[in-house]
Amino acid sequence: GIPNHFIAQVAPNQMHIRRVEIIPLEVVVRNRAAGSLCRQTGLPLGLELNPPLVEFYLKNDALGDPLLTGDRLRLLQIATDEEVAQITQMALAVNTHLSRFFAECGITLVDFKLEFGRSQRGEILLADEISPDSCRLWNQEETDPEKRILDKDRFRQDLGAIEEAYALVMQRVLAHSIP
Ligand code: UDP
Repeated sequence: GIPNHFIAQVAPNQMHIRRVEIIPLEVVVRNRAAGSLCRQTGLPLGLELNPPLVEFYLKNDALGDPLLTGDRLRLLQIATDEEVAQITQMALAVNTHLSRFFAECGITLVDFKLEFGRSQRGEILLADEISPDSCRLWNQEETDPEKRILDKDRFRQDLGAIEEAYALVMQRVLAHSIP
């Protein structure tokens, strides 16, 4: 039920999508503290965040994707207040569905990043991808803080077994999706 750019999967590695103008924001939703939130605030890794935190980062590698305030968002005129409210609501709706979906796969959705675009008609659409490259996913069957990691943190922290972790996510997702 979330308006998005997807039209059809036309090959294993190709999809047809609606053309959008990408809004230069990385929209991060967090259910537990991890990554930059822990580094910047000192919150303990894994702390439950209720309600979930929605954050906006400027999508600009040269500037290091800085965290934006509401006033900076307005100053940069990246999106209107109405669009920001709509994006926040859509990101939280994605989180509701996705965290439930992953929980049913025995996986905790710690946090994830979304991107949005504007269609030619000016509608806000969910765009880009959702994958273990843009999510933090923890295996609920593991308590070890390194073994439980099933996402790009395995690469970032040089933990090895990256393909195995991604394959496990795919296996659980497929097993859940196929009735
Ligand atoms: N993320 C992403 N692309 C980025 C930055 C972050 O997909 O350029 C994702 C990241 O995988 C995590 C979430 O956004 O799921 C929050 O990332 P965080 O701000 O904690 O930054 P990190 O610790 O990954 O540098």
